[in-house]
Amino acid sequence: MLNFSQLLDVNYWSSLSASPWTVLIHLVDITIVSYLIYRFSKALAGTKIMTLVRGVFLFLFFQILATLLGLQTISWLMNQVITYGVIAGVVIFAPEIRASLEKLGRTTQLFARVELSSEEALIQAFVKATAYLAPRKIGALVAVERAQTLREYCSTGISLDADISSELLINIFIPNTPLHDGAVIIQENKIAVSCAYLPLTESAGISKEFGTRHRAAIGLAEVSDAFVFIVSEETGSISVAYNGSFKHGLSLDEFEHELRTIFVPENVKKKSWLERLGGRKNAR
Ligand code: ATP
Ligand code: MG
Repeated sequence: MLNFSQLLDVNYWSSLSASPWTVLIHLVDITIVSYLIYRFSKALAGTKIMTLVRGVFLFLFFQILATLLGLQTISWLMNQVITYGVIAGVVIFAPEIRASLEKLGRTTQLFARVELSSEEALIQAFVKATAYLAPRKIGALVAVERAQTLREYCSTGISLDADISSELLINIFIPNTPLHDGAVIIQENKIAVSCAYLPLTESAGISKEFGTRHRAAIGLAEVSDAFVFIVSEETGSISVAYNGSFKHGLSLDEFEHELRTIFVPENVKKKSWLERLGGRKNAR
């Protein structure tokens, strides 16, 4: 275990390059840690949690500084905060941690079962519902939760907790019915709520042709990793928003392709162990 006083010890630094084997081990160690930090920051980039993580790193930096300078009381106090902070963090972020671990389990598909029937059923239901809604110009807005929780937005809607089917999705969006306004949110393969209010984007670069339905979809894709799709009431056009991108005027085939890119890893059966370890390239 590294002690801070070791950092000032010349012998410690020379011991790091004692033999080629030690150098190699340290290089592998540094590479793995760098990769993990890169993946971690990439996953959190642009999310609200990133601000918190930045705060935690700043705190850790000051704690290390206090230790190096020998400010014992401050360093002890900060240590206590860190010890209890970790417990508090686990409690506060339990849903996010669970979702991330589930995502990790899905990403490294070593032990995953090959059949992906729930994803396939989800895609079929979305495509079938959209094929009905778009030509009839029935407006729809659907957000699918991925790794980050959409709980705070679910609380603005009407709870349904129903199995996903194209029929139910179509029914929800039929105009002038109690459930049609706002967004449907999909959580864990269920239609969790309808009539949810999503955060509107504040981006000034969006064309005036897009009203609040499209702005709500883009807004949610900016603050979370959710996949959102829209059927326009005015034009019947299909759009998707995810990972900060917005694609407009998709054909039904293109829409299905977008869904598959997100929800079904390509040729799972054919993937080698090495590729599986590297994670899903198409699930950004
Ligand atoms: P369309 O092309 O379908 O007309 P639009 O982008 O022009 O879409 P509006 O015409 O403003 O958007 O659509 C209004 C509808 O969008 C509302 O009736 C409501 O159902 C939905 N909507 C608006 N704002 C939100 C929001 N913040 N969260 C969820 N749904 C919203
Ligand atoms: Mg409109």
